[in-house]
Amino acid sequence: MAFLALHGITKTFNETRVIQGVDLAIERGEFIVFVGPSGCGKSTLLRLIAGLESISDGTLELDGRDITQVPSAKRDLAMVFQSYALYPHMTVEENMSFALRLAKADPAQVRDKVARAAQILNLTPYLKRTPRELSGGQRQRVAIGRAIVRSPKVFLFDEPLSNLDAALRGQTRVEIARLHRELGATTIYVTHDQVEAMTLADRVVVLRDGRIEQVGTPLELYDRPASQFVAQFIGTPQ
Ligand code: ADP
Ligand code: MG
Repeated sequence: MAFLALHGITKTFNETRVIQGVDLAIERGEFIVFVGPSGCGKSTLLRLIAGLESISDGTLELDGRDITQVPSAKRDLAMVFQSYALYPHMTVEENMSFALRLAKADPAQVRDKVARAAQILNLTPYLKRTPRELSGGQRQRVAIGRAIVRSPKVFLFDEPLSNLDAALRGQTRVEIARLHRELGATTIYVTHDQVEAMTLADRVVVLRDGRIEQVGTPLELYDRPASQFVAQFIGTPQ
């Protein structure tokens, strides 16, 4: 059985179906990338999984539990927002521990989780700084750290590198790949960047107009694109 299963997921905004019956089975530990042109529904599909938008039709199962109607905070998923969503007046440590403190977690356990996440993300020397005193790449790592400390079943990323410059983007991409190897956590990562998709993914989901055009490993998409659309998007000459 799939770890995370989408059955006929549909979203309608003002009578327009922007997500049109998506079926997808994700295995535990997989790194899945949603890719496709701007406006194809990547963010909406991710937000439906996160519970940040209500599902118009279809069902969602996580680890054997129907979470279609479960509120976002109780889904055991963590969304990594772009780094500008950090609290500017809080230190790195406070940013990373905020959700746990809100949930009234045991303070010793919170300190321990933050310390471990900081170690994994190479943020230990920066715990007492505020986001203003960090580089863009360090800020993005704090945003990832906020998700890690919650030990979610699934990590959700929406274009996490899009406001970094090219050099930092490459470096942070490598760090995200390393993090996935170390934590082994199930991850869904949204991007419009083919290179990011092809280098990070175990499987790529190509979206077009709110539908899945093709699902496959990067190699499968290169070798056997299902359509001209996929071929062009992945960059295979035809
Ligand atoms: P992507 O992330 O792939 O660029 P989005 O998921 O943001 O695409 O958007 C998919 C479609 O849904 C777009 O046509 C967008 O205009 C529309 N859409 C997204 N959010 C809303 C909303 N809150 N209200 C109305 N339409 C929306
Ligand atoms: Mg988007």
